[in-house]
Amino acid sequence: SPESARSLETAELTKAFGGVRALDAASVTFQPGRVNALIGPNGSGKTTFFNCVTGMIRPDSGQVSYRGRDLTGRAPHVVARAGLGRTFQLCRVFPRMSALDNVLVAARPGGLVAKLRGAHRRADVDRARSWLTRLGIEHLADVEARNMSWGQQKLLELAGVLMSDPETVLLDEPAGGVNPALLDRIGSLVRDLNAEGRTFVIVEHNMDLVMSISDHIVVFDRGRPIAEGPPSVIRSDERVLGAYLGV
Ligand code: ADP
Repeated sequence: SPESARSLETAELTKAFGGVRALDAASVTFQPGRVNALIGPNGSGKTTFFNCVTGMIRPDSGQVSYRGRDLTGRAPHVVARAGLGRTFQLCRVFPRMSALDNVLVAARPGGLVAKLRGAHRRADVDRARSWLTRLGIEHLADVEARNMSWGQQKLLELAGVLMSDPETVLLDEPAGGVNPALLDRIGSLVRDLNAEGRTFVIVEHNMDLVMSISDHIVVFDRGRPIAEGPPSVIRSDERVLGAYLGV
């Protein structure tokens, strides 16, 4: 179907670290247009999955494809150019750079060079400011990232990712360590961006957030999916409860 032709898919994705199978033949499909969530207990392979999909690490075997294109083992910038953006659990921003400069630097591969030359394009500056506004941190445009709260830094990182206009955004624990007020903003932001056509895949431990914003949830245990479905189904799935409770 045209839907699956546009999906983010893995086939039998496997990655071991020493004797540990972080991913064990994981076959997953994330359909376009959805807010997808990837959940599972600690150590179930979620981060390794993100890292394999985005080219941060190379899988031992199996495939990654997006929109029907094979991205297995491709470099992060190739994956990004294919339309997949991502944020990191431990938020990647330049601490001594202003919020505005952080977003500008993320805008394009030559962003850092343009910054050093003081030669940002007017259109990029306008776009960077409008993303800061959209994320509610425009008043911090001239503040160095290190002087922003953790949650504000996460929003800043997301603004940088959105500068490259990714069709699909992978969020690694967007709510981790974020205060409740910002948490609500992140939730509604994801829903709004999704309504405008952006697909999400979100690794998140905050189950209230996951259940309230997701269309589709995939549950990992020991390196592979053990259940998937809408929140109403996942909430009462015995395998899911078993994976979390270890029964
Ligand atoms: P999750 O994100 O679901 O918590 P991870 O993908 O981080 O799970 O980890 C899956 C398993 O792989 C864990 O047992 C973890 O200890 C192991 N692992 C992950 N990354 C590495 C690494 N770089 N070196 C060794 N072991 C790793």
